[in-house]
Amino acid sequence: MPKITIKAGHVRPIWAGHPWVYAQAVELVEGGATPGDEVDVVDARGQWLGRGLYSPGSAIPVRLYTRCQNQNFNLSLIEQRISAAIRRRATLGLPSPRTNAYRVLNGEGDDFPGLVIDRYADTVVVQMGTIGVKQREKLVLDSIEQLIRPRCIIDRTSDRLARAENFVANRGIVRGVAELSEMTFQERAFDFNIPLELSQKTGFYLDQRTLRGRIEQMARGRQVLDVFCYVGPFSLAAARGGASRVTAVDSSLLALEVAAQAAERNGLSGRIVHERNDAFDAMKHAGRHGGYDLVVCDPPKLAPSRSSSERALSLMRKMAAAGCQAVTPGGMLVICSCSAALGLNELTRALALGGRDVNVVPRVLERWYQGPDHPVVAAFPEGLYLSAVIAEISSIK
Ligand code: SAH
Repeated sequence: MPKITIKAGHVRPIWAGHPWVYAQAVELVEGGATPGDEVDVVDARGQWLGRGLYSPGSAIPVRLYTRCQNQNFNLSLIEQRISAAIRRRATLGLPSPRTNAYRVLNGEGDDFPGLVIDRYADTVVVQMGTIGVKQREKLVLDSIEQLIRPRCIIDRTSDRLARAENFVANRGIVRGVAELSEMTFQERAFDFNIPLELSQKTGFYLDQRTLRGRIEQMARGRQVLDVFCYVGPFSLAAARGGASRVTAVDSSLLALEVAAQAAERNGLSGRIVHERNDAFDAMKHAGRHGGYDLVVCDPPKLAPSRSSSERALSLMRKMAAAGCQAVTPGGMLVICSCSAALGLNELTRALALGGRDVNVVPRVLERWYQGPDHPVVAAFPEGLYLSAVIAEISSIK
C-alpha cells in the first residue's frame, strides 16, 4: 500500500484523532499513490498512525478513515460506518414521531470523511466530498439502499467541492424513483414540502433544529423578526411559541413562496408576514416599524475559509450592529455563524464591536451549536462549524 510520511512537527493532532492530513504536513509520498487510493499514514520514525484516502493536489491530501491496521475501505467498512451512524441517531431519538428529517451521517463526525447523508422521510440526500468516496460511490449507494431503504437517493454534491477534488458531481436522483419534484418531511411536528429546485445545502438546514426549539420557548408575547428566513422554520417556531407578530425576511422569492406555503400548511399563516427584502436593510430600518423584541439572524456562510475570515469578521460586525438596531431595548438578538473559521469567539467579538458601533450593550445569555445529529470528534475542532449566541440588548446607562 502507498505510504505518506508526516513531518515531525505535524504529528500530534493526527495522533490525537484529527482525521485530516494538511498538504503542509506531508514529508514524503511513496509507493505510487494515485487519486482515491488507500494510503498508510506514518510519522517521521515510520510508526503507523492510520489509513486514509488520497486526494493529491487538495489542501487536505489525506483524510483518515481508520486507526485499525486490519481495516480497509471496502463494503464491509462502509456498512459498518453507516450502521454505527444510524445507531447513534437512534440513541438520540431520531427518527421520532415529530421529526423524520435529520443528518444520518456527518462525515468526519461519524468516522466517514467525505460523506454526508441526510434523511428527509423516505428520501435520502448524499454529498460526496472526496475523490476517494466518489470512486466508491456504488458501494456507498448500495449500502444506503440496504440499510435505510429509502424511496430514492438524491446526490447534492457541490460542484465547487467536486472540482476541487477533480471529479464531476452527478447531481440529481441517483437511485430509486425516476421522478420526484419535492421532498415532504417533518421537523418538530412541522410539515414541510420543499421543491427540489430549492437545493441549498441538502434542501433544508437540519443543523438548527435544537435552536429552533429554544426560539419556540422564548417567543411568547414577543414581536419577532426572522431574517435570512429561507423556508421559515424559525418563524414557524416563534409563531407556534406564541409570538404576537412574526416578520420573515429573505431575498429569495422561491424560498419565501415555500415559507408562505409552509405557514399555511401548519395553520400559522395568519401569524407570519413574509417580506422579500435585503436582511441588512430590514434590520436597519426595523425601528420604523417600532422594532422587535426578538430578532433571529442566521446568515449564509460568511467565511468559506480561514483566509477570508478577516473580511467575514467585519461583515459579521456590521450584521451584529444592524441586528442590535432592530431590537428594542431589553430585547433579544440571536445571531449565528455557520463557518468554523468564524466560531463562537469571533462571533462574540463581532457582536461586542457591532453593539459598540450602535451604542448598545449586547449581553450573552446563551451559546448554541449545531444539533447532536451533527456530531464532532473531540480531536477535530474544524467540525464545529455552526455557532450561535442569544444576547440581551440593552442601552448604555
Ligand atoms: N435561517 C434559515 C437558513 C438561512 S440560509 C433556516 O433556519 O432554515 C440563508 C438564507 O439567506 C437563504 O435563504 C438566502 O436566500 C438568504 N439570503 C442571502 N443573502 C440575503 C440577503 N442579503 N438578504 C436576505 N436574505 C438573504
